[in-house]
Amino acid sequence: MGEVATDDYEVVIIGAGICGLATALSLHKKGIKSLVTERSETLRNITGAAIGIRQNGWRALDQLGVADALRRTAIPIQRERIVGLDDGKQQEMLVKGETRCLRRKDLINTLHAALPPATVKFGCKLESIKFDPNTKKPVLQFIHRTPIIAKVVIGCEGGKSIVANFLNLKPTKMFPLCEVRGLSNYPNGHSFDYEFARFRKGNNLVGRITIDDNLVYWFYTQPYVPRDERIWEDPEAIRRSTLALLSDYPQEIKEMIEIADANSLSFSHLRYRAPWDLLTGTFCKGTVAVAGDAMHVMGPFLGQGGPAGLEDAIVLARNLAQMGLDRVEEAFNLYVKQRRMRVIRLSLQTYLIGMLSGTSSRLKKLICIFLLSLLFHNPSGHVDYDCGGL
Ligand SMILES: Cc1cc2nc3c(=O)[nH]c(=O)nc-3n(C[C@H](O)[C@H](O)[C@H](O)COP(=O)(O)OP(=O)(O)OC[C@H]3O[C@@H](n4cnc5c(N)ncnc54)[C@H](O)[C@@H]3O)c2cc1C
Repeated sequence: MGEVATDDYEVVIIGAGICGLATALSLHKKGIKSLVTERSETLRNITGAAIGIRQNGWRALDQLGVADALRRTAIPIQRERIVGLDDGKQQEMLVKGETRCLRRKDLINTLHAALPPATVKFGCKLESIKFDPNTKKPVLQFIHRTPIIAKVVIGCEGGKSIVANFLNLKPTKMFPLCEVRGLSNYPNGHSFDYEFARFRKGNNLVGRITIDDNLVYWFYTQPYVPRDERIWEDPEAIRRSTLALLSDYPQEIKEMIEIADANSLSFSHLRYRAPWDLLTGTFCKGTVAVAGDAMHVMGPFLGQGGPAGLEDAIVLARNLAQMGLDRVEEAFNLYVKQRRMRVIRLSLQTYLIGMLSGTSSRLKKLICIFLLSLLFHNPSGHVDYDCGGL
C-alpha cells in the first residue's frame, strides 16, 4: 500500500450514479461538503437510456431543487395500458400522480451540474475499505490512486457494492429474467399517446413509455437463458437478437427496435437483494453506510430503483445535518431505521412481480398472486410515500 493521504473532505461518497450525485447534492444543500469518487472517466449517463419517475421521486427531486428543470425535459404520462397479445385483451388505467420518463442523461447531468465544481473525482475506482485500527476511521483504497482516510463513507456504487461487502451484507441474487432497453427517436414525431404501454406475450413483455413528441423509451423483459454475455456488449447483436425474438410482435414494436439509437441499447440480467436479507442486513457500521442500489438493488418492475435512491439521499443528508458530523453513527442508525421498512416493501413487491413473470410453475405463480393481493392490495400505493423535507 502506498502512502496514506488525509483528504480535505470529511464525507466521501463512492459512485456518481443517481444516488451518489443526489446524496452529494442533498449534503451540499445542507452545507456539508463531500467528495464523490467515480470509477468511470466521465459521467455514466448513457447506460440505461431512461428512467421512469413517479410522484414520490418528484417529491425528492423537488427537495433537491432540480425538479423544475427536469420537468421541462419530459411530458407527463397520463395513462397505463396493458395489452395481452395472446388473448387480445386490453386494460387501461389512469396514472396516479405526476409520472414522467426522464432520459437518464438529463437526470445525471442535471444533478451533476447542481454540484460545486470538482465534487466528482473521475477514474477513481474503490478497491477495498477497512477501518484504521488506531483511529477507527475508514481507509479507502483505490486502484492506481493514493488511499483516502475519510471521516464518513457512503457507498452508492450500485448492485456490486464493495462497501456492502465490507458491511457483510449477503450477496445479491439474480432473477430468472433479463432486460434489453433502448431509446427510439422519430424525427417527424411518433403517433403514440402519452402513455406507459405494456405488451405481453407468454412470459415476454415489451414496455414503451413516451418521453416527448419524438422520443420513446422501451424495454423488453424475457426469461434469462445463460449464454456468453460478451455478445450483449455489441449493440447491433442486441438489436438483432431482440428483433428475432419479437418476430411475431406488432409492426410498430419491431420498427421501434429497428430505429433505436445504437448507443442507447443495453442488456442486463436482473439483480436483486432479497427482501428477507433487507430485513436483517446491517446497512451501517461506525461511520460507513450504504444507499441506493448498493443497499437495495431491486427488479425494475415498479420503476422504483432510482426514486428509492433519491429518497435515501434526502433522508441521509437530513439526519447528518440534524445531528452534525460529530454524531454520524446516530445519524446513520436513524437513517437505517427510517428507510428499512420502506425498502423492504418496495423490494418485496418487485420480488413477487419478478417471480410471477419469471417462473413457469403454476403453484409459484398462484403463491405470488396471493401474496401480492394480500400485502399490496393497492399496487401503486408505493408512489404515495413522502420521504419528507431535507
Ligand atoms: C434493466 C433495468 C431497468 C431499470 N429501469 C428503471 C426504471 O424505469 N425506473 C427506475 O427508477 N429504476 C430503474 N432501474 C433501476 C435503476 O437504474 C437503479 O435503481 C439506479 O440506477 C440506482 O442508482 P445508484 O446510484 O444506486 O446505482 P448506479 O446507477 O448503479 O450507480 C453506481 C455508480 O457507481 C459507480 N461505481 C461502481 N463501482 C464503483 C467502484 N468500485 N468505485 C467507484 N465507483 C463505482 C458506477 O460506475 C456508477 O456510476 C432499472 C434497472 C435495470 C437493471
